[in-house]
Amino acid sequence: VKHNRRLANWDAYEAEVVELTAALVQVDTSNPASDPTGQPGNETGCAEILAARFEADGIETEIIEPAPGRGSVVARLRGSGDGPSLLLFGHLDVAPAANPELWTYPPFSATVEYGEMWGRGTVDMKSLVAQEAIALLYFAREGLPLSGDLMFASVADEKTRGPHGAQHLLRARPETVTAPYVVNEGGGFPVRLGDARAYVIDVAERGMMWLDIEVRGRAGHSSMPGSADNALVKAAEIASKLARHEPRHTAIPLVRRFLASMLQHQFGPGGDAVADLWFKRPNGRAIGQALVPDPRHRGGFDAMLGPTLSPTTLSTTGYVNVVPDAASLGCDCRFLPGQGRAEIYEELQRAGLELDAVEITEISYYEGSESPIDNPFYQALAETLGEVAPAWPVEPFLLPTASDSTLLRNNGSIVYGFQPVTPSDGRAVQRVHQVDERLSLDSIKFGADALIRVGQRVLGTPLPPD
Ligand SMILES: [Zn+2]
Repeated sequence: VKHNRRLANWDAYEAEVVELTAALVQVDTSNPASDPTGQPGNETGCAEILAARFEADGIETEIIEPAPGRGSVVARLRGSGDGPSLLLFGHLDVAPAANPELWTYPPFSATVEYGEMWGRGTVDMKSLVAQEAIALLYFAREGLPLSGDLMFASVADEKTRGPHGAQHLLRARPETVTAPYVVNEGGGFPVRLGDARAYVIDVAERGMMWLDIEVRGRAGHSSMPGSADNALVKAAEIASKLARHEPRHTAIPLVRRFLASMLQHQFGPGGDAVADLWFKRPNGRAIGQALVPDPRHRGGFDAMLGPTLSPTTLSTTGYVNVVPDAASLGCDCRFLPGQGRAEIYEELQRAGLELDAVEITEISYYEGSESPIDNPFYQALAETLGEVAPAWPVEPFLLPTASDSTLLRNNGSIVYGFQPVTPSDGRAVQRVHQVDERLSLDSIKFGADALIRVGQRVLGTPLPPD
């Protein structure tokens, strides 16, 4: 049995991955900037830290900076050319930490306390960037033979969908981010559903459409509201309708398989039927509430069942003593792979929005994406999880959020979200974009170890037998 066998010379690398994660977290790469007057990103600070480490070990590396401060870093270890290449991908920017006073420790301090590292980016995703860098350094320093190339790319500007990052590299330097197999953020963590548990590999993600819904009314003096038609109130009523709406569910094969498999732990063969019931309106709602009583957890499962409409911003221009004649409502609409505009407009109408009565502008639109799982790369990830967390089943998973994975899948790569944390650290994932984001030091080490095992499997240098 090969479980938990330590990698050669691993102690020094464990210390280094923790230290490198901290060094990256301590560079404030908020995008947009935490302080509204500041510059977004400033990812070059992180790119330089990584490039210096790679160069010190003689690894081919380059910083690509399409705009001042917006640097991405790429690196490559050449293989013999006898196998497919593996790209370890990531992003260097983080969500803003707008209210630092709410944090237990300053968000860019990378304070280590109670065995955890606290700070913005510890989970999303500077720990994975550090783990990927350590994997590259491990292969270089240990002189392990490679069949395909082991590539590294950590990019700027993921939070605004990559005009300075992934999109720029795909357009201007496609060779730096093109590989048959790509590891990115978004999976590799433990999930629980009732008594069932599994490690998930993210193989697909949802699409998104951000809308600005412009609502018109009639201005008037706010001392005589009856003579005006208040656009703010109309927009607020629309927001309320959209938020209360229950979109139709669709059982895409990936999600149906995931839920059925999880539910079989609890209900045996009947798990299949329970999964089907969950997709059905109106009773599916009761099923969801029974299976996942905590609404904070249920939101993640709901998002796998169908589209979501999420009104997020509401603004008017004017003064407190003027009834506004216009209001602007922002809505973040997400949908399953294979769905698109048609499904969202249908749900907007079903929610009671009269499309003729408002003016809708699309701020952005990206379809979802999915990678197949019948290939040696998926096998390598699943076998690795089986090795580092032997008691846990592994399931392919739909990521409810969005990442750069879709851009890379559209570029022809098989992309999986794979950022393993320890079995007891599943909650860390729920703190992404939140106050007190933090990750255990054990998870930081655990993920680096797992990535190296993946590299050994994919690039043809498996661990020698016991
Ligand atoms: Zn991320």
